[in-house]
Amino acid sequence: MDFEKIRKDFSILSKVIDSKQLIYLDNAATTQKPNFVIDSISGFYKNHNANILRGVYPLAEQATEMYENARQKIAKFINASDACEIIFTSGTTEGINFIADSWVQNNLKPGDEILLTEAEHHANFLPWVLLAEKTGVKLKFIKINPKTFKLDFSDDLITEKTKLVALTHSSNVLGNIWQKDQLEKVIKKAHEVGAKVLLDAAQTVPHQKIDIQKLNPDFLVFSGHKMLGSTGIGILYIKKEIQDEVAPYRVGGSMVHSSVSKSPTWVESPAKFEAGTPPIAQAIGLGAAVDYINENINFDGLKKHEANLCSKLIDGLQQIDGVTIFGNIEELKQTGHLVSFFVEDIHVHDIASLLGSKNICVRAGQHCAQPLSTVLNVQATLRVSFYLYNTDKEVEIFLKELQEAIIFLKG
Ligand code: PLP
Repeated sequence: MDFEKIRKDFSILSKVIDSKQLIYLDNAATTQKPNFVIDSISGFYKNHNANILRGVYPLAEQATEMYENARQKIAKFINASDACEIIFTSGTTEGINFIADSWVQNNLKPGDEILLTEAEHHANFLPWVLLAEKTGVKLKFIKINPKTFKLDFSDDLITEKTKLVALTHSSNVLGNIWQKDQLEKVIKKAHEVGAKVLLDAAQTVPHQKIDIQKLNPDFLVFSGHKMLGSTGIGILYIKKEIQDEVAPYRVGGSMVHSSVSKSPTWVESPAKFEAGTPPIAQAIGLGAAVDYINENINFDGLKKHEANLCSKLIDGLQQIDGVTIFGNIEELKQTGHLVSFFVEDIHVHDIASLLGSKNICVRAGQHCAQPLSTVLNVQATLRVSFYLYNTDKEVEIFLKELQEAIIFLKG
């Protein structure tokens, strides 16, 4: 992987404000976009813009083809068995709300159980909390071990009452929380009792090779903007064999055979699940992001690069008085792409805004994962998260500026 070349592909990374170089370390929130993706989106608007699936003139047919090509690319990227399994959404959040409001709401009854982990992002927590209030479905949680920051799963958490297992594939605060082969075991056990499995892969699809057929969830969700694509686009994977069981989440244009018959009949997936005008340019942009990744990243190299940055960062943090790292250090050094930590007696927001004034972008807070903060009794953390364009030098500057910020804030 040519990291020097990669940096040049992202115009924003050369941005200097008040003579300070931008150091972008908030990739778990959203990633920067290479010019190739930006050009593909503006190129669509400049040369090909038309609504899809409707017009019979060449411009509309071309737009439809570009949109469907993007779907094919994404299907291939995660090794889906058929492009009809790839549904365009606005992001991870919408994908999970989709399943909560359609399949789950239609299939679960009071007393049925949904199993989550204690480390869910609110996107994979609040839809289930609301649903439980509305329907009497019960929520259960796989506990996070406060020493190892790994999940403590026991077989008895999944019973005949379990109808859905909705899990984060990787935590946006702690990184990987699964023990070796544990997730595969949970998915297998869920299927044995007839439960469906939903994986929130917002923090994994951008960083590791996903083989959806091997992983075998029923639903999987991720966001385009966390993998070099634009905002406003995400993917909901729905396994082909269960698509007939899933009702549309929204209804409207381009998804019905007959709307005037007594009961409307839906067209096949994916159109069945994409009512109305979809985010066409954004989907094409996500297809371009996949092209860029295929061209420039091999996932083994990316993992090594990100883990080296985590390792360097952790080594530096461990030299600073009062710093506590929040996560499994050994694992983060080997496979991580983010590191969360806090500094004794200083509010993390104060540190983040001081770093911000130096043009260093990191995230501070609970990272939309309050249940995790509550069970681990940690108010807030600073999170540094890496992607393909980050460098050793950026970690060095970050560590130096962090130390200066701590000295300043401690007075
Ligand atoms: N799940 C995880 C693990 C995340 O990290 C995020 C975003 O940070 C989300 C869900 C929500 O993603 P989005 O805001 O793109 O819908």
